[in-house]
Amino acid sequence: MRIKVKNPTRFTLFILSILAVIFLISACRNHFLTMGDLRDSLSRNHGRENLEKKYMVVIDPGHGGKDSGAIGASGRFEKDFTLSLSKKVAERLEQEPEIGVYLTREDDSFISTKGSLRAAFANERNADLFISIHGNTFNDPDLSGTQSFYYHDNCQAFAEVMHRHVLSATGFIDRGVEKGNFFVLRDTHMPSVLLEIGYLTNPRDEAKMLRKDFQETVADAILMGIKEYLGL
Ligand SMILES: [Zn+2]
Repeated sequence: MRIKVKNPTRFTLFILSILAVIFLISACRNHFLTMGDLRDSLSRNHGRENLEKKYMVVIDPGHGGKDSGAIGASGRFEKDFTLSLSKKVAERLEQEPEIGVYLTREDDSFISTKGSLRAAFANERNADLFISIHGNTFNDPDLSGTQSFYYHDNCQAFAEVMHRHVLSATGFIDRGVEKGNFFVLRDTHMPSVLLEIGYLTNPRDEAKMLRKDFQETVADAILMGIKEYLGL
């Protein structure tokens, strides 16, 4: 059956105005995106409609392999601290029905800084959040504190939420949230943060940071920060 259109020009204009209204509504919606909308938006943007709807979080244990990272006051390596804490975070995320987790490394593998592989890992998996875990270092062993970094302006809010939770768990001095030009932050396409949990070069901080119960408290805090940011 054919639909008779009396005035083709008016009909076309009518269709075009409806399309314009739909476009405006969706533009406004995206502009005032709330966290509740984020999930739909992310799955739409990333073409994940057919997959199980989960937020994907990449946890990045800093350093690894021949890159030991900082050498702590006791001679222990930052790469071992970051892996141990990251695994505890991943264990917690795995218990969350609405969150999936990837680790950029699960053992003492070396990940080259060439090609920004850690960021590419998260980008390729369409991750929703990226968290790089580190321990800080300084030549003055008295220096202490927890510090967090973001790079893109739209990652600041995520970094601030994560920092608040981690800081309350460490109980260290607050060294604040700063913009940091780290390649893992610069090259990731999702909200990303680099957490410097504490100073491994400070003997008192390091002793705490290497303790299992301390790491579990910090892992709980990282989970709480993720859930707060995602609105879960
Ligand atoms: Zn590091």
